[in-house]
Amino acid sequence: MSVVLIKPKTSSKKETKEEKIYDAIIIGGGPAGLTAGIYLSRARINTLLIEKALPGGQAILTEIIENYPGFPLGIAGPELMQKMEEQAVGFGLKIEYGEVAEVKIKEGREDKEGKEDKVKMVKINNQEYRTLTIILASGADASKLEVPGEEELRGRGVSYCATCDAPFFKDQKIVVVGGGDTAIEEALYLTKFVREATIIHRRDRLRATKILQERVFSNKKINFAWDSVVTKILGKEKVEGVLIQNKKTGKEKVISCQGVFVFVGNIPNSKFLNKLIKLGKKDYILTDDNMMTSQEGIYACGDVRKKLLRQVVTACGEGATAAFAAQKYIEELKGVSYK
Ligand code: NAP
Repeated sequence: MSVVLIKPKTSSKKETKEEKIYDAIIIGGGPAGLTAGIYLSRARINTLLIEKALPGGQAILTEIIENYPGFPLGIAGPELMQKMEEQAVGFGLKIEYGEVAEVKIKEGREDKEGKEDKVKMVKINNQEYRTLTIILASGADASKLEVPGEEELRGRGVSYCATCDAPFFKDQKIVVVGGGDTAIEEALYLTKFVREATIIHRRDRLRATKILQERVFSNKKINFAWDSVVTKILGKEKVEGVLIQNKKTGKEKVISCQGVFVFVGNIPNSKFLNKLIKLGKKDYILTDDNMMTSQEGIYACGDVRKKLLRQVVTACGEGATAAFAAQKYIEELKGVSYK
């Protein structure tokens, strides 16, 4: 089903990418976006997925995913994501690469009842794509510590990805900053390479799930700097250490190390929306139960959305819901809904 309701306002006869109106455009190819792609492609909705780099999202940076149902021994993040991409493409999903610069709502024509069809516009690589619905699945990026030395020494000892950089720190001493699931999982992975790791956490207990805590507390290569924050990353050409401060006593101390791995949460990729959509705390996108945002026909799912639990499994569930809701919306617009 690919009935085009609204004719593009252009005089050119030759069909170009700008003139085509997709039924749905998915922005982001992580677990949420790919799942939405699987559902929409199976519903034979004319869909384009736009991804800025490699499909897979943050999950491809995870060595092993243990809590995605169906894999009792866990599954490597890249393998799971490759399978999701294969599945989506297998059902006919089209993927294009580029970074979305802008999303706009274009005024449409009025129908018989005076209701306006709103065509949405997504701009990438100086190319405009038109669509009836958008699914925002743009995910989140790693937060920074925002301390002196961090930017200057990025890639020279400061890292935000253990699976990418761990082999560079073989037999060296490193610190890991953060106390959540990511910090603890990545610290455990890093111990396969490094000589010693110190986890620096601003509280006296970890946020991470209990099974990860059990593993980290029994790992002999890992020690802890509790109630402490990094105030400066030290080194000229490369990392030589960190200056930390104990929040309870105010005392400062230098920990010498060659690597600083920062895992202090995420920031959602919602900036490009430029106030088009209502955002909540820390700029996560607000949606209703059907994943609809403050704009009709625009949905959000996965890590870019405000929610309680950020997991691959929840991202997939939300992707499916967003796709189904978008499908209903499109069918309603075209007057072909199954009632
Ligand atoms: P997170 O849960 O938000 O944890 C971030 C950690 O960094 C917290 O311990 C926080 O301290 C600390 N922190 C934040 N800002 C800081 C700062 N400026 N300086 C020092 N420390 C700071 O983030 P995450 O670990 O990346 O996890 C994100 C989401 O993905 C979570 O929902 C998590 O459950 C999920 N996840 C799940 C898995 C899994 O299921 N296997 C794996 C990875 C991630 P406080 O505790 O004091 O706030």
